[in-house]
Order: sequence, then C-alpha cells, then structure tokens
Amino acid sequence: QVETLKAKLLEQAQEISRLRSELGGTDAEKHRDLLAAENERLRQEMKACEGELRELQRQQQAPCRDCPHLQENAGLQEQLSQLQREAEETRAKLVELDLEVQQKTNRLAEVELRLKDSLAERAEEEERLSRRLRDSQETIASLKSQPQQIKYIIKTVEVESAKAKQALCETQSRNQYLQEQVGMQKQVLKEMEQQLQSSQKTEAQLRAQIMMYEAELERAHGQMLEEMQAMEEEKNHAIEEAFSRAQVEMKAVHENLAGVRTNLLTLQPALRTLTHDYNSLKRQVRDFPLLLQETLRSARAEISQAIEEVHSTNRELLRKYRRELQLRKKCHNELVRLKGNIRVFGRVRPITKEDGEGPEAANAVTFDADDDAVLHLLHKGKQVSFELDKVFPPQASQEEVGATVHTAGVRGGGSHLLLTLPCLLQVFQEVQALVTSCIDGYNVCIFAYGQTGAGKTYTMEGTAANPGINQRALQLLFSEVRGKAADWDYAITVSAAEIYNEALRDLLGKEPQEKLEIKLCPDGSGQLYVPGLTEFRVQSVEDINKVFEFGHIKRVTECTNLNEHSSRSHALLIVTVRGLDRSTGLRTTGKLNLVDLAGSERVGRSGAEGSRLREAQHINKSLSALGDVIYALRSRQGHVPFRNSKLTYLLQDSLSGDSKTLMMVQVSPAEKNTSETLCSLKFAERVRSVELGPVSRKAELGSWPSQEHLEVLKTLLGDSPGSAAPPGRGHASPSPGQLSSRSASIRRKLQTSG
Ligand code: ADP
Ligand code: MG
Repeated sequence: QVETLKAKLLEQAQEISRLRSELGGTDAEKHRDLLAAENERLRQEMKACEGELRELQRQQQAPCRDCPHLQENAGLQEQLSQLQREAEETRAKLVELDLEVQQKTNRLAEVELRLKDSLAERAEEEERLSRRLRDSQETIASLKSQPQQIKYIIKTVEVESAKAKQALCETQSRNQYLQEQVGMQKQVLKEMEQQLQSSQKTEAQLRAQIMMYEAELERAHGQMLEEMQAMEEEKNHAIEEAFSRAQVEMKAVHENLAGVRTNLLTLQPALRTLTHDYNSLKRQVRDFPLLLQETLRSARAEISQAIEEVHSTNRELLRKYRRELQLRKKCHNELVRLKGNIRVFGRVRPITKEDGEGPEAANAVTFDADDDAVLHLLHKGKQVSFELDKVFPPQASQEEVGATVHTAGVRGGGSHLLLTLPCLLQVFQEVQALVTSCIDGYNVCIFAYGQTGAGKTYTMEGTAANPGINQRALQLLFSEVRGKAADWDYAITVSAAEIYNEALRDLLGKEPQEKLEIKLCPDGSGQLYVPGLTEFRVQSVEDINKVFEFGHIKRVTECTNLNEHSSRSHALLIVTVRGLDRSTGLRTTGKLNLVDLAGSERVGRSGAEGSRLREAQHINKSLSALGDVIYALRSRQGHVPFRNSKLTYLLQDSLSGDSKTLMMVQVSPAEKNTSETLCSLKFAERVRSVELGPVSRKAELGSWPSQEHLEVLKTLLGDSPGSAAPPGRGHASPSPGQLSSRSASIRRKLQTSG
C-alpha cells in the first residue's frame, strides 16, 4: 500500500509538474526561458572574455613592449569596450526581460487561479488520500505490533509521510485559497442570482404588460371582428338589395328582350326583304345608266329610223304629190281646153236690208237641187231657167274651207241671214286652179259682173273679216311660190288701176288723176304696156293689205240711189308673177287680172242725168265691148274687138291665146231687181253658150236669136258689134224709155230661145 501511495504521490507530482509545464508552456515562458538561457550564455561568454583579457594583460606585462602585442591589445581593448557596451545593452535588455518576466509571473498567477478548480478536486482527492492514509496508519499501527522488519518500513514510510505532509500542507493552503476562490465565486453567483431575480421580476412585469397588451389586443380583435361582422352584414344586406333590384331590372330587361326578340323575329324577314330590295335596287341603280344609255341608244336608233322612214315616206309622198299635181294640172288644162278657156259662174247674194221689206224684197231666185249649174228666176210670174258653168247660191262662202257657218252680215246692222251649210260650193275653191296656173305662166282674168249692189266688190274684195278673191288669190300665190322656192325664184308685183269714163288711172301712183295710155311694146313682141303704171313688189299679205288700203282711198266711188257705195268705174288689180327656174333658166311670166267691173244696171233705172248718164253710157259701152270680146274669143272668131274699150284693150294679152278667163256674174235675188238680174244672167249665158262645140257653134251662130239681141243691145248701148271704132268715142244714146221697152222685147225673145 505504501508503495502504491508513493507511486501515487509521484504520479501526483508528475501531474503537477506536467500541469505546471502545461501552464508554463506559454510563449512568454518559453521566451523567458530562452532569454534566461541566452543570458546565461552571454554571462559565460563575458566570463570567458574577462579571463582572456586578464590573460592578455598578463602577457603584456610579460613580453613587454612587443609592438604587435600592443596593437593586438588595443584592438582587444576596443573589442572589450564594444563587448562591454554590448553587455550594457544586454543588461538593459535583461531588465526589460525581467519586467517581462514579472508580467509573465502575474499572468502565471492568473493561470494558477484557474488551476484552483483542479486543485480543489485534488484537495478532495487528498482528503480521501489522507483518510486512506489514516486508515493506512491505523493499519500500520496495527502492523507495528508485527515483526521489526516492518518497523523499518514504517520509519521510511514515516519519512516519506513527512514529505507528503508538507505537500499536503501546501496542498491544504492551496485548497484554502481555492475555497476562498469558491467563496468569491459563490458571491458572484449570489450577485448573479440577485440579478436573475431582478431580471425575473422585470420579466414578470413585462409578462404582465404583455398580458395586458394581449388582453387589449384581444379586445381590439373582438371589436374588429364585431365591426367586420357588422360590415359583413351590411355588405350582405347591400348585396341582397342590389341583387333583388338587379333581379327586378333583369326581369324588365328580360321582358324587353323578349319584346325585342319578337320584334326582331318579325323584323328579320322584313329586313331580309328590304335587303333584297335594296340589293336589287342597287343593282338596278348600277345598271340604270347602262340601261338608260342602252334604251336611249335604241330609242335614238328607233327615232332616227322612224324619222328616216317618215322622211322616205314624205319623199315618196312628195314625189307622188308632185306627180299627182302634174297630172291634175294636166287634167285641169285638158278640162279648161275642153270647157274652153272662158268660164262663166253665177253668184247670187243673199237678201240684205238694202233690199227693203215686203214683196219687193222677196226672193225671186231658186236653184236646182241636182244641178249646181242651173238657176231659176221668177220674173213677172214666169220662171226663167239659166245654165252657167257653175252657180253659187247665197250660202256659198268666200273661203275654201267647207262645212262652216257663214254669216252674211249687212253693213250697219239690220236683218241678218244666218245659214247652216252642210256642204257648200265654195267660191274660191273654184278659182284656185286659175290662180295657180298664173304661176305656171298663164295669164288669167277674173271679172265680177253685175248690177250695183249685186255683190261684185264683196266677191272680189270681201270684208276685212271675210276677204274675197283678191286677198285669197294673193295668199295662195305666196304660199305656192314659197312651196316652189327650192327650184324657182319668183317676183310678185302688184298694180292697181281704174277705168272711169274710158280713162285709165293709176290707183297707186302719185298722180291719180293722170290719164294713162296703153301702148305697144317697142320690142315688137306685140305686148301691151302702160307707161307710168306703178308696180309694187309684194312679199307678204301685209304688203298687199297696204296696197289695197292705198288703192281704196283713191278709188272713185260715187253715191247713187241704188247703192250708197256704188262703184262707177272698173277696178283692176293686176298681179304679175315672174318666175325663174334656177336649174333650167326657164323664165315664166303670168298675169292675174282681178277686175271689179262697174255696175251693169241700165242707166234709165238709176235715174242718172248729165255726168251720171255719161258715166252709165261709158260703163255700158265698155261692158258690152267686154261681152263682144269674150263672145268673139269663145266662138273663135278671126277678129276679136279688143280695141272697142280701154278695158278690153288693156286686158288683150290676158284674154287671148292660152289665157284663162272667169266671168263671175253677180245677181241679186230680190224681186225688185229681177229685170236687172235677168239682164245679167242673159249676158252670162250668152257669153258662155257660145262655146258649145265649133260645129254647132257655127250653125248656131247663123240662127242664134241672141245675135239679134246682141245687136239690139249694142244699138241700145250705142255701139255696133264688130265695129272697129275706137273706144271712148261718143254715140248718140237712146232714151231710157226706149231702152227698157226694147230690152223687154229682147228678153222675151231670149226666153223663148232659151
Ligand atoms: P257691188 O259691188 O256689186 O255694188 P257690193 O259688193 O257692194 O255690190 O254688195 C252690196 C251689199 O251686199 C254689200 O253690203 C255686201 O256686203 C252685200 N253682199 C253682197 N254679196 C254678198 C254675199 N255673198 N253675202 C253677203 N253679203 C253680200
Ligand atoms: Mg262694188
């Protein structure tokens, strides 16, 4: 056991030394150790150097004055001082190191403190060991009683134990120190505990605060939750309300939608049809200009074709018309040739207010319903019939237009004769052909013959509202000339003259009273002309009207008791138509002589005296000369007594040759005029009947009773048939009484022969 204890002690010592080395194993300790070792080395080096120095000094004294030694000695002394300086430095260093060592020792003390713990443990161990030692001592005591050998051991052990006791003491002191340390530590611990307690208190406080905060938080949370709930409720309520409202609205909208849908359903087909219509319309509109153009083109083509057709038809018609016209003209000429170039028409005027009233104004003239050339006159209870080329009844109108109402107006009012005409013979229509032949170059004479008031002027001139042959003839001439204007140039001139008492006067001249002479043309053509006779070139109806007005003013009209406006002179309107065919250069000249003869009434009846009588004689003579000429022409006698009167002489070239003559015998139907009417009609018939065939004419001429009548008439009028006496030469006139008695006998004779 001692052995083990010793071993243990050793172990302990080793442990301690180990620990100490462990503790001193720091860099400072090592450094200290190192420095100590260095110090030791330097001290020894210094001792060695001192020894050397002493050696050297001794040598110096010994060899004495040896130069090299002295030098070496100086060097050595120098070395020595250097070394001494070094030693001084080293000593300073050593002091520093000592200081350092002190520091290190302090540090070591600290480290020793740390060692205390382990030492405490060691103390305990030692306690235990001491207890064990006591045990062991007890055991040893018990063992003392045992053999001596053992006593010795015990002694050694006791020696050993003393050392151990010293170590123990040291250890105990150390232990005490450590206990002190522990106390200190306990103190620190107590402080720490106190600190802990305070901190725990603070913690509790904090915890309480936290609790408070938590409670508050909880409360706030609850409040918040409540608020949230309230808001939620509010929100829900609002949502519900909105929802219900939306539902209501939705329902309304749905209803609307349904209505709209039904509308839409009904509208859709309409829309479809509309769209269709629109499309078709659009197409139509698009196609319209094209269509229009097409239509226009076709229409234009059609129109132009139609126009062309019409044109060609027109041309054809015109061609046909011209041909027909030609034919007609030919036929007319043929007819005229057959009928003779002289024709006699009779025209009966209506009863007028001038005829008065009663039996005197009764109608004495009747017509044949079947023959428009026959006229019956009731004279002194006997009906005498006359046949002329044509007879116009009172209803006959001036114009060529048929089926009209003709008003036979009487100047100054009075009784009017209003007659409805179903189909009348129109005067001018019969005259037309004559007028137009004037354009072809024929000479034409139209005479109005009859007693004053029988309607001569009416027939020739007419009234303003109802113009007569004059105006109509000229109008016709103008229109005909216009129609031929394409090929012909025409110049129409007009002259107006009057023969009064066998004196020719120019009605359009400046000197109306000047008597004009009829002379032969100096060119030897045998043509007659009147030097100084005014010619007016006329181009329109207006021109003619002016000419007529001008002529009228100058016309000598005298009042007789038969007719207020009885004309006592022959009035002539001479229209000359000169034509030039531009293509052929053919020239034509036609003359139209419109003659309003003076009244044919017998002088005795008018009761004229003096100049009136002379007038009547002149008139009768010239009329009888006209009758003679016409008679001679119609009976184609070798000699025609043109020179018997101024009138016939003037109209010579218009009565002879190819000329055409129309005698319009005017008669009054009044009872009181029957004898004059009879005279006129007899004159007409005589002039006309001559022409009935050349053979019979000749045979008739010999036995014709009217020859006698003529002679009687001529004697009565103071002229002899065939006499070449120059006109105007006066003859002894028979008395009116003789005239009437003789004419009556002639009339009787004529009637029986008729
Ligand atoms: P003339 O010239 O022979 O002396 P007028 O021409 O002066 O005769 O006619 C005498 C009257 O008779 C005029 O008032 C005229 O208007 C009228 N008269 C003549 N003929 C007709 C007739 N056919 N229709 C109507 N009135 C006529
Ligand atoms: Mg007249």
